[in-house]
Amino acid sequence: MKLLWGDLHNHCGITYGFGSLENALEAAKEQLDFCAIIGHAMWPDMPKRSAELEFLVDFHLEGFAKLRTNWESVRETIKEWNVPGQFVTLQGYEIHSSEFGDHHILSPSDEIPLVTAESPAKLVAALAPYQVIAVPHHVGYTPGYRGMNWDAFSEHISPVVEVFSKHGCSMSDSSPYAYLHTMGPRDSRNTIVHAIQRGKRFGFAGSTDHHAGYPGSYGDGRVAVLAAEKTREAVWEALLARRTYAITGDKIACHFTVNGAIFGSEVKDIGSRQLQLEVTACDGIEKITIFKNGKPWALANGTSSISPITSVPAKGKYKVRVELGWGDNEQGYEWQANAHLDSGKIISIETCFRGRSVLAPTPGMRENPNMNALGNKLISSTETGAQWSCTTFKNATTLHPQTAALIFEIEGDSSSVLTVEANGSTFAYSIGELLTGSRSVHMKPHNSEAILFHRAVPVSEYVFNGEWTDTEKEHDVDAYHVEIKQWNGQFAWISPVFVIA
Ligand SMILES: [Zn+2]
Repeated sequence: MKLLWGDLHNHCGITYGFGSLENALEAAKEQLDFCAIIGHAMWPDMPKRSAELEFLVDFHLEGFAKLRTNWESVRETIKEWNVPGQFVTLQGYEIHSSEFGDHHILSPSDEIPLVTAESPAKLVAALAPYQVIAVPHHVGYTPGYRGMNWDAFSEHISPVVEVFSKHGCSMSDSSPYAYLHTMGPRDSRNTIVHAIQRGKRFGFAGSTDHHAGYPGSYGDGRVAVLAAEKTREAVWEALLARRTYAITGDKIACHFTVNGAIFGSEVKDIGSRQLQLEVTACDGIEKITIFKNGKPWALANGTSSISPITSVPAKGKYKVRVELGWGDNEQGYEWQANAHLDSGKIISIETCFRGRSVLAPTPGMRENPNMNALGNKLISSTETGAQWSCTTFKNATTLHPQTAALIFEIEGDSSSVLTVEANGSTFAYSIGELLTGSRSVHMKPHNSEAILFHRAVPVSEYVFNGEWTDTEKEHDVDAYHVEIKQWNGQFAWISPVFVIA
């Protein structure tokens, strides 16, 4: 089994989002293994059109009509991009519902018709001849106000639930990434931990819900699945088995079992529960929380990012993040960059590319099919270097980055030197210097785009192995899930293992 990374919920210009479908698939393929581009299709209980709601109602109706007109060609393009072993696509579309909460349906069938229904359950029923699931998303909104209706939840049609996206984090009412969109705040009655406490069984997914055709846009939500191979059938099997977890952006590799049963599964209680967790993170691990039935049950604290690491090995493995962006360019600043490592070896490179930050249409916003053609690409990589291009934007707010980054995993020692050449300027720092802290450099004298060499993170800070034993049965079904928090605020939420008495 291998970990595959994806986005199951991304929007573009096929409905009321922006950017072309082809550019969206191109962007997805650059840093994901699988994706589903979702068209908005219906809102059976949409509010009535009024002077105040004119814009809202009109853009929805126009978007739904656009998808209907182009459904055959959208489906065909998504089918063509599915190449076993290389890149996997799934078919799907979305139903908004004030009463039941928004859901997107997913299917491995290239034949699914575009039909309308009064509710997500009725939509799945109408598509009974096909393999279909319905994924509830942004579940934390107010009940009846497009938040999830957990009374109507069925694990048979919804094996996984989206717990994080551009809307924010739905895990609990005290989780980071509060809901700030125009749709309103989150409500504790609708959160994931509350649903777990009510005995609901499902796996976790993260996905962007990005509306400008950039699946997997870094920091907006992604999903990991543990699948036998990179094919549509294997990804589908993993979704049905709930072998999934949500990540915010960084590809935090996790393995979590209870009595040998992998995340998402159900296992018979044998009296004692042996929990095992292995994590390879992308930054220092700040905290790991094991939840039992939605409540924190065990904690493992890493080193704080604020206090200096006390014993830094002078030789070994390190992760160094090189982040590009800042400046005041709202139209996009293009980077051509390469990196070179002296006396050491680059073991892996992870890209953290983002799309433009768009969550919904706003008055005056115009469709431009190329708005998601950003040229974000890892052009080449070897054991000693890499070449890439990317486009970054002025940060959306001072609390919302629009940067791009590469994470280099390096085997070397304190004398290994990482040199980055970007748009004609050259900067070089040794691992020894970066172990003491970050270094920032600028491209221009004022309001400048900048490069941040993050502090080098030694392997002891980004790898964790832990074991716990629990002998207390609390309910007939006890659910164990895991939250991993990195220094940089990136998270992983691992699907529960359900222990059945
Ligand atoms: Zn959506």
